[in-house]
This record gives sequence, C-alpha cells and structure tokens, in this order.
Amino acid sequence: MRTARYGRRLRMLADSADKKRRARYECPKCKKNSVKREGYAIWTCRSCGAKFTGGAYSFETGPGQSSKRMLGGVKNE
Ligand SMILES: [Zn+2]
Repeated sequence: MRTARYGRRLRMLADSADKKRRARYECPKCKKNSVKREGYAIWTCRSCGAKFTGGAYSFETGPGQSSKRMLGGVKNE
C-alpha cells in the first residue's frame, strides 16, 4: 500500500531527528560533553550553565558555521 510506504519513510526521518535532538554535545566553553537541547535552537551546558544558539535539532549546523553565539551573562535582569 502506498500509505504504508510513506509512513515508514516519515518515521525514519523522525527517528534520526530525535537522536540528534537527544544527543549531548561538547561545550565550547568548558569542553565537557554536557550540552543538551533546551528549546528550539537553544542549547544549555549542564556543567557550566552556558547557553548557546545552534541548529534546531543538532548543536552543529555545519562546517564553517559562524552563527553560534553565547547567550550567557543575562541570568539576573
Ligand atoms: Zn560548559
């Protein structure tokens, strides 16, 4: 059936996005592997508490990317 084939492909795409979303990444600040996804394109280091923007579903959006910037230092306003 056509509908079954489409369903399988969508599920595979969702699975790979989910893995990236749940993976941990190295913190550019403290170099520990404890950066986790906090929200849409927001990543937080569980070790030093630094916040970063990145890709929506993975911390690195590609080689040579320069859009990543720190959001730290705005805790108490
Ligand atoms: Zn850190």
